[in-house]
Amino acid sequence: MISIDVSVRSAPYKIYLGENILPQLAQELKKIHPSSALIVTNTTVGPLYGEKVRKICNKGVRTEYLELPDGEAFKNWDSVFMVLTKLAEMGADRKSVVVALGGGVVGDLAGFAASIYMRGIKFIQVPTTLLAQVDSSVGGKTGMNMAAGKNMIGSFHQPSAVIADSSVLKTLPAREVSAGIGEIIKHGMLADADYFADLEANMESLVALDSGKTAEIVAGSCKIKSAVVAEDEKEAGRRACLNLGHTFGHAIEKLTGYGTWLHGEAVGCGLILAANLSQKLGNLTKEDVERVRKLLERANLPVRIEGLSVDEAIRAMKGDKKSTGGVIHFVLLNKLGESYVSEVPEELVREVLVEGGYV
Ligand code: NAD
Ligand code: MG
Repeated sequence: MISIDVSVRSAPYKIYLGENILPQLAQELKKIHPSSALIVTNTTVGPLYGEKVRKICNKGVRTEYLELPDGEAFKNWDSVFMVLTKLAEMGADRKSVVVALGGGVVGDLAGFAASIYMRGIKFIQVPTTLLAQVDSSVGGKTGMNMAAGKNMIGSFHQPSAVIADSSVLKTLPAREVSAGIGEIIKHGMLADADYFADLEANMESLVALDSGKTAEIVAGSCKIKSAVVAEDEKEAGRRACLNLGHTFGHAIEKLTGYGTWLHGEAVGCGLILAANLSQKLGNLTKEDVERVRKLLERANLPVRIEGLSVDEAIRAMKGDKKSTGGVIHFVLLNKLGESYVSEVPEELVREVLVEGGYV
């Protein structure tokens, strides 16, 4: 088993990674010594792993169980309130713990509910998608959507531990695996050229979720994200680099209609646009951009999108939550493995979009 320390100042914790490591959950519960536990999962993950996790928890602590409906559409107040109601009904107190078993949606919802129940109780993440293991379970952001926008409501609430078991990924649809790899490639590009090269050497193993390699690669990604987060827990500066590819990606999701492309797929396409923009600014070579494109292709991620409107994309990017005052800030690369944030002349962005198939 691999373990990583996430050294956030508010509440440092460990991420555990490996094959068949769910039993580690029992050890973590023992350390917390909770008065009761609530497993929060959904109707897809629950039937696959709910019983197993329940047995592990039940050994040491009275455990209740809740299945939420599956899907981003349910990442809303109704679901959060279901969790809070269940906690109240089971008599959960300030020493109780929430165990989030699922992808990023379950993790964000359960974490948010834990952060506001009795002004905040502990929670443990058991992420079951590749995206959740490398991204959403690291960093302490929790939240839910509103009609007005994604993740409009939320809190920073660090988990007490994360148990990232690679063996549960085996039931994940291939498209979801690729979407997770989008964020993994992003991590290499923005912070670690050696990790990027590792991905080039092992992409087929990762796509196939090979037992020998997956946990190691996931651990590499967690290390990169947790180092960034430890430096900037509440997103005052450095953390913005994690949005590499996301300004473009969010516009793709918006213009194609949310849910048409998975987030990680849109980010994958955004990574190539961000790489092209960095090349136009004289930072990356043509060969660098080709390396990125090849790696995305080997992860079965889309690298081009035809026919979206340049004007609408620009408008969407100006309206993005991460833009301020209509000025678009992009995460750019100095070189592979080194990122910075800067404004970019709109003309250059337009050029990149047109070359990327936009009209
Ligand atoms: P998801 O949680 O919707 O999971 C994708 C699908 O896979 C769902 O249908 C789910 O039920 C299913 N699934 C999960 N685990 C499975 C398994 N082991 N086997 C079979 N099916 C399984 O999506 P996601 O990509 O994990 O997460 C996306 C969410 O994460 C978004 O809401 C996003 O806003 C959030 N997010 C949060 C952060 C953060 O820092 N908090 C970061 C990135 C993303
Ligand atoms: Mg993302």
